[in-house]
Amino acid sequence: MTTVIPLPAPVLLAVMNSEQTFPVRRVYCVGRNYAAHAIEMGHDPTREPPFFFQKNPDNLAQGAEFPYPPLSTDVHHEVELVIALKQGGDAISAADALDCIYGYAVGIDFTRRDLQAQAKASGKPWTAAKAFEHSAPVSQIVPAQAIGHPVNGNIWLKINGETKQQGDLNQMIWKVPEIIAELSKLFTLAAGDVIMTGTPSGVGPVSRGDVVSCGIDGVAALTVTVV
Ligand code: MN
Repeated sequence: MTTVIPLPAPVLLAVMNSEQTFPVRRVYCVGRNYAAHAIEMGHDPTREPPFFFQKNPDNLAQGAEFPYPPLSTDVHHEVELVIALKQGGDAISAADALDCIYGYAVGIDFTRRDLQAQAKASGKPWTAAKAFEHSAPVSQIVPAQAIGHPVNGNIWLKINGETKQQGDLNQMIWKVPEIIAELSKLFTLAAGDVIMTGTPSGVGPVSRGDVVSCGIDGVAALTVTVV
């Protein structure tokens, strides 16, 4: 069987200590999942149902550079725990959710905050604010088989060595199994799906030349230079 146009390149993420790669199907992101970040963005951190948005699979990037995107002058960093699924389904129970996870990574949900503010003000979608080229740098995927399923641990981000974000995974409003359960009520999840689980407080702008380093203790670390 041939295709009428060239096949798009698959999105393949490096896996720690492996020659094999993790193929990406979809990318889901959780909004406002740490109370301190919800407050800093001007929202009530009470436990309302989680909400989701998406990035494109090929927005995931494992290079050393983050190209500053066009049409924004206020691009913010958001360090997040990333989940990589090995299986999925509909209406997965929280009790079964961890069985769906292949591994974890640390990633950055780069956001055109100025475009997001405009979208919020006019009731428009966040696509241009969130799903732009290279908008989601991620570390290698670390298999759960190697590290288990982290429920706490320092999550941090520094710019040029100065701490900007610091939190703990145990501050997530919706925990990893609950995120999978909620998401699978809305969408059929499957192997290759990647979920970004929200950011702790301290988000802020990056500039060209900045060295942005981040990590989750016990999971992974990542460094990108803004170019
Ligand atoms: Mn985010």
